[in-house]
Amino acid sequence: MDRLGIHDIVMKMQAFYGSGVTKDLKFRRRQLELLRRSVVERERDIYDALRKDLGKPKLEAYLGEFALIIREIDYALSHMDSWARPRRVGAPLAFFPARNFIAPEPYGVSLIIGTWNFPFQLSLVPLVGAIAAGNCVLLKPSEVAEASSGLISRIIRDTFDPAFVAAIEGGPETASRLLEERFDHIFFTGSVAVGRAVMSAAAEHLTPVVLELGGKSPCVVDLEVDMETATRKITWGKFFNAGQSCVAVDYLLVHRDIKDKFVGRLTRLIKEFYGDDPSKSRDYCKIVNRRHVERLSRLMAGQKILIGGTADADARYVAPTIISEPAWDSPIMQEEIFGPILPVLEYVDLDEAISKINSMPHPLALYFFSLNRRKQMKIISETSSGGVCINETVLHQPTTTLPFGGRGDSGIGKYHGRWSFDTFSNMKAVTKSSLRLDLNLRYPPYRNKLSLIRRLF
Ligand code: NAD
Repeated sequence: MDRLGIHDIVMKMQAFYGSGVTKDLKFRRRQLELLRRSVVERERDIYDALRKDLGKPKLEAYLGEFALIIREIDYALSHMDSWARPRRVGAPLAFFPARNFIAPEPYGVSLIIGTWNFPFQLSLVPLVGAIAAGNCVLLKPSEVAEASSGLISRIIRDTFDPAFVAAIEGGPETASRLLEERFDHIFFTGSVAVGRAVMSAAAEHLTPVVLELGGKSPCVVDLEVDMETATRKITWGKFFNAGQSCVAVDYLLVHRDIKDKFVGRLTRLIKEFYGDDPSKSRDYCKIVNRRHVERLSRLMAGQKILIGGTADADARYVAPTIISEPAWDSPIMQEEIFGPILPVLEYVDLDEAISKINSMPHPLALYFFSLNRRKQMKIISETSSGGVCINETVLHQPTTTLPFGGRGDSGIGKYHGRWSFDTFSNMKAVTKSSLRLDLNLRYPPYRNKLSLIRRLF
């Protein structure tokens, strides 16, 4: 779409927002119900699109996309009245009878830019929060997952008044054009590099941004561990969606004393999950396109491969792969892998492992496996990341009750459930006083008033 077309849509949205319709909670509810109905009606189409774009098995499509959207809508429907209510907070006695409260108000017109690895979830879950909070939304799904992008646009078109919510399909060029417009809020999911470009475009209009980015999420395995369960959870957390998840385990740090045994089990589990030839498994996703297969092949080149290591760009396939002890300065340990390759490195001292992690950019997720409570607490308090799972992988993400997002290079801002509502709201500070009663403590002349102010403020 050209500049004028985009500008026209944004102007219509500004007018729609200006009419005040979206301030009405009943209106917002109705829109969420409509969205729910459309998504449910298209459940089968969603699975088909995901099969086409990513070869996504139905269970993964249900768990990672469809169910999450429905749950997010249902959760918002049952809580949004209380989220939207002004929140009473304390006020200093010195200002009596003033009362303070926080009145959430919508930002106005939001731009949501999604990405391709969970194309429905990463477009529609933020949309739920934006609608619950009363915003108009212009949504751009990722062009990389073409079938999903088309279906998302159709769902949006068939569900909403285009002056309220609209979708525009397209790639970087369209996104750049969109970013020239003045939005009231921008919610972006994608890479660090593009996140930077989005933030600098937003700076032009001083538009608040949420950046949901990626990075290298480490998984540390302690000596005191139940290997059977730990390896199962890690294998799933790595190879779900063929590793194309922002919260996938990026690399493993395993205690030296158990490393060989641990890797042996991981290898066995890969076969158990995906068979002797994972390229034939219906439970194993495809890589999204040729470019990413080639990128992943480059990352594997020259590494010590323990299992897997094969790739076929025509079939959009990269085998579940484990590599041993890559150099920290090799590309595979410098870039986010975002694919089914698992580097395994050994460590001896937990403090050293923590120092290594802390010397790298803040990860989106950090995973720790240990039966030792003291070490669990140590990891939580001595490392910093968007989220942590202890004896688990990934599960802090698909939930409405935890804030999801990164910090530093892995992102800015949180969403899901109530955090989505807050993220898409301006938290307006309101002080409400009276004209009938007005203490004169704060007014000149100040003589003899300071000691009382000291006590009451
Ligand atoms: P990307 O940054 O290339 O693309 C994401 C979106 O940005 C797409 O819609 C794309 O069209 C748009 N875009 C591309 N160029 C742009 C530009 N110059 N200006 C504005 N928009 C532009 O994303 P990717 O590399 O394909 O996605 C993978 C990355 O996303 C990984 O780093 C992954 O960790 C991250 N990710 C993060 C989350 C999260 O929730 N934190 C979720 C999924 C993926």
